[in-house]
Amino acid sequence: METELLIVGSGPAGLMAAYLAASKGHDVTVVERLDSPGGMSASFEINGMMVDYGSHRLHPATSQPLLEILKNILGTDLQTRNRNGRIRVEEKWVTFPLSFSNLVKSLPARSVSELFKDSLTSPFRQPAEETFAEHIKAGLGQKVFDLIYGPYAKKLWGMPAEELHSDLARKRVSAKSHLDILKKLIRSTINNGQIFFYPRNGYGQICERLAEEAENKGARFLFETEIKSIDLTDKTCVVTKTENGSFDSQRIWSTAPFGSLVKMINPAPSPQIIESLKQLKYRAMVLVYLICDQERLTEFDAHYFPGIDTPISRISEPKNYREGPDPKDFTIICCEVPCWEGDQIWLASDEELGELMLDSLAKQGLPKINLLDTKTRRLPKVYPIYDLDYREKFENLINWSTSQERLTIFGRQGLFAPDNLHHALSMGHAAANALDSNTSFAHNSWKSSLEEFQTHVVED
Ligand SMILES: Cc1cc2nc3c(=O)[nH]c(=O)nc-3n(C[C@H](O)[C@H](O)[C@H](O)COP(=O)(O)OP(=O)(O)OC[C@H]3O[C@@H](n4cnc5c(N)ncnc54)[C@H](O)[C@@H]3O)c2cc1C
Repeated sequence: METELLIVGSGPAGLMAAYLAASKGHDVTVVERLDSPGGMSASFEINGMMVDYGSHRLHPATSQPLLEILKNILGTDLQTRNRNGRIRVEEKWVTFPLSFSNLVKSLPARSVSELFKDSLTSPFRQPAEETFAEHIKAGLGQKVFDLIYGPYAKKLWGMPAEELHSDLARKRVSAKSHLDILKKLIRSTINNGQIFFYPRNGYGQICERLAEEAENKGARFLFETEIKSIDLTDKTCVVTKTENGSFDSQRIWSTAPFGSLVKMINPAPSPQIIESLKQLKYRAMVLVYLICDQERLTEFDAHYFPGIDTPISRISEPKNYREGPDPKDFTIICCEVPCWEGDQIWLASDEELGELMLDSLAKQGLPKINLLDTKTRRLPKVYPIYDLDYREKFENLINWSTSQERLTIFGRQGLFAPDNLHHALSMGHAAANALDSNTSFAHNSWKSSLEEFQTHVVED
């Protein structure tokens, strides 16, 4: 089969690229391993209720042109919602995103005075080392580190914050200082609270609609098709093999994990690249869906648990994210449990995980859960781990990838980034922009886009 542009992966990055490239008149084929689009941003049904892969929101930080596209294709199904989350700190609930006034109201007086002291001394602090721990302590102070980011880092990435690179803090923590928190607080007061966007039928509706629109523009989709090999030896064409056949394309854009992609490539990259890849690690996640015999557990959309007294990092209640056609007689709680692929949590049965979640949540000050059933999903590559020498390995990979004439790599897993959906969309947008009408690719503008992607800051 022949196609001008072959895109690997139908997550948000691949879909936006396919939609925009097809809109410009290019001949596009999307190959997806799974049976439906969306990747990590997909939704699926449990007992007639749509659920997501953990708490997902479309953040207002989405760039205006991309937000316009999504608003156009989703219409009134894209709802504007007020954020309504809580974080568990010192056995108390504090509103999340953090509000300074609520923090002061909720925490013991001693902790509040330490927070104030840290905020007064913050202009005089500088990080002593390029670590996650030092970066947070310098910006937000020792107390915020001890209460929230220190334990949270250990839970999310499975490593002490002292052994993680400061780049992770730059990308993952949007409030860099007490002044930022104050600014956010003022902004949210003016805007009458913080908002997000969410589709009526589940987060996955964003990607489903994007896939339909890409198809309307002429893109072809092949689901349940996994790429097995990519041959770049011919200077004029890429030959890609799947279990069902072979494609000749002028270019290939991949949003698959860098590691699995590079193993498929002929000619094989240098041993140095292979070694760099082996050392880039991901934290995995088990998502445990508790089907509960009650209309609602709480009125909140998400609860965050930074503390190491529970293996859960966050729970979400999907029906609180939307005004949708959800069943009334039960609710579902989705527990996010970071782990290592193959560890005890990863290998535990649904029943064991259900029991573990019940036990753990019972100690966190939530209403009693009447458990009917437990379902699980496992994601092997969720959080890229930026250890102290990740940069050199990562740069080796980027240099190798940008030296490829016909292969372009992007997306959250392609670029080893902890990014949001709107970042993945912007990568697809930048790739499509770099594609000229005569099918040549503007490599220089792509290199600038790669630098810009490095400045992405994740919204929680
Ligand atoms: C728990 C959790 C919560 C999150 N919350 C939010 C949130 O609130 N807001 C937000 O904006 N973002 C959130 N995100 C991030 C968001 O899910 C991702 O940024 C987004 O899905 C990344 O899109 P992508 O296209 O880069 O990659 P993916 O979504 O990973 O898609 C990649 C696709 O490639 C396919 N693929 C891989 N290998 C192959 C192969 N060899 N052949 C064919 N196909 C292949 C995969 O099956 C997949 O469909 C969250 C992520 C997680 C894990």
